[in-house]
Amino acid sequence: MEAIIGDIGRYAIHDGPGIRTTVFFKGCPMHCPWCHNPEFIRPQPEILFYADRCIGCGECVDRCPESAIDLNAPQRIDRRRCTACGECTPTCPTRALAVAGTRYGVDDLVAVLLRDRLFYDASGGGVTLSGGEPTLQMAFMARLLRRLKAEGLHTVLETGGFFPFAPFQAECLDFIDLIYFDLKISDPGRHQRITGVDNRLIWSTLAHLARWAPDRLVPRIPLIPGYTATRENLIALSGRIREMGLARPVLLPYHPFGRSKAVHVGRQADAALPRVPMSAEELARWSACVEPNDSTQKIAKEENDAD
Ligand code: SF4
Ligand code: SF4
Repeated sequence: MEAIIGDIGRYAIHDGPGIRTTVFFKGCPMHCPWCHNPEFIRPQPEILFYADRCIGCGECVDRCPESAIDLNAPQRIDRRRCTACGECTPTCPTRALAVAGTRYGVDDLVAVLLRDRLFYDASGGGVTLSGGEPTLQMAFMARLLRRLKAEGLHTVLETGGFFPFAPFQAECLDFIDLIYFDLKISDPGRHQRITGVDNRLIWSTLAHLARWAPDRLVPRIPLIPGYTATRENLIALSGRIREMGLARPVLLPYHPFGRSKAVHVGRQADAALPRVPMSAEELARWSACVEPNDSTQKIAKEENDAD
């Protein structure tokens, strides 16, 4: 059995406790406009083009068997022709081309992950499964988790929650130490329009996890201006999380990572997204909305006063 892995990030310090290696699974059922990792949304391997590194030498044009590269085309690569064969990447002198998406068997991937065991042991770290959406390749993920646990490693899952709970509980849950569960938009219609999927499955999965693994579950909300970071949405999401008896959600402040990365896979960056990271003041302001007290009314009053 194999999985398509977008990338493997070593020495990660923000993806769980200690020093970790993060496995980015390729493929996601959602297409959030702000995605930090747009190169991992499509399930297939794909070519990445970094225009700022390109010196226009043309080596890649001659190498491509599909005639998919045109130095004069605005997008440079015709992605309908490109098969992500990777032939062009070693010829590029400036590393302006790369393929995201490599097939791994469980044994091969475990061998890579064990290279950093010393760092995990020294720091209380381990392995984080991220993406993309790891649960989209659940059978592989289940085998990988069993092997990592057999090696005594700490495991974290980062998920958007759009997966059926029953097979996850049967095959994966016992082998995961922490689940970072990202919630985005409360209103079902808005969620469907913006992310492309119905959020009822996400809430159902969260409710199951709240019952079966509350101590390992960390709800999170990415704060995306104009999308998730609205007073109504944050109050609704945090209220529902509270009703399930879960801890206050962790708020992830907006960063414009995804804007620049989208163009590397031939996507247009969402023009509505800010070009600068969220400030500490903004984060504090939105944090008040997830507190179970009157602070949200204070924000409403400030907003009304400003109008
Ligand atoms: S990955 Fe293959 S098909 Fe795609 S541009 Fe490079 S050489 Fe051409
Ligand atoms: S080989 Fe690299 S530097 Fe040369 S044209 Fe192609 S992408 Fe640009």
